Amino acid sequence: MKRPEISFEFFPPRNIEATFRLWDTVQALAPLDPRFVSVTYGAGGTTRELTRDVVATLHKHSGLNVAAHLTCVDATKEETLAIVEQFRASGVTDIVALRGDPPKGATGFTPHPDGFGSSVELIEALRETGDFNIRVGAYPDVHPDAVSGQADIEFLKRKFDAGATEALTQFFFEAETFFRFRDACEKAGIDKPIVPGILPIENWKGARRFAENCGTKIPAWVIEAFDRAERDGRQDLLATAICTELCSELIEGGVDKLHFYTLNRPELTRDVCFALGVAPDVKLEHVA
Ligand code: FAD
Repeated sequence: MKRPEISFEFFPPRNIEATFRLWDTVQALAPLDPRFVSVTYGAGGTTRELTRDVVATLHKHSGLNVAAHLTCVDATKEETLAIVEQFRASGVTDIVALRGDPPKGATGFTPHPDGFGSSVELIEALRETGDFNIRVGAYPDVHPDAVSGQADIEFLKRKFDAGATEALTQFFFEAETFFRFRDACEKAGIDKPIVPGILPIENWKGARRFAENCGTKIPAWVIEAFDRAERDGRQDLLATAICTELCSELIEGGVDKLHFYTLNRPELTRDVCFALGVAPDVKLEHVA
């Protein structure tokens, strides 16, 4: 099996303990030589300054290529572009440009009266500022706001036409879901890379809730398997097996890049990477 290139998503920590956990996660996963790591932007734009600071700190101290997530929610264009300037000033060249999720409790996306009205507008503005490598979100199980799967793909094409260079997908459970989506994108004239987003399931209840919110379909066999594993106390084993199998099938189907949602917990992601042959490049003379 061909060794895939990998990348990792982290979220910004909100307290001291979480800060240590993020740093431990970075330390554990950095030796796997990711293409880049990305840092999310809280729903409703709630972590604007925190994301900026984490991105700048990681960029400065980890030696990794860091991508900053950025959303349009609850900010004027001026405020959003000011953050972009701060990313640029700290040396960050990669942005994951998103429309964003609304704040907790809100239903649907309402653009700020002076803000960017869609991800396409944000991407266009980023392209005009130059310099940034722009990644975007994509939805193999179809985004809940899309009128149809085809409309969703056409919108993704608009994001590429506006200047995106790569898409990272929402997580999904079956390789077939990704292959169908990849083929439909190709048919729609999309020729840029679409990288599968992989969620190693640390917490089944949380993952299930998350899937329901973002439109990811959960196959019945997955629900049954986790229910059984929960009874037997073997959820971690199941999560590693399911995730490794999904990644292996994707690689066998021609995928060469994987993007892991780590949730700032390195263990499962690292186990899956090891199982896929992605391991630190340690030479004996460096450890002996
Ligand atoms: P878009 O692609 O802009 O819109 C989603 C769908 O809605 C489109 O595919 C299209 O079908 C429809 N749509 C939207 N606008 C139009 C239009 N004008 N005309 C026609 N159809 C339209 N959320 C956060 O808050 N912070 C994060 O850091 C974050 N990181 C993410 C990372 C990845 C890789 C992914 C996949 C998602 C992430 N999200 C994040 C979640 C994301 O913000 C939500 O899914 C949000 O609802 C959509 O953002 P988007 O930019 O992908 O949407």
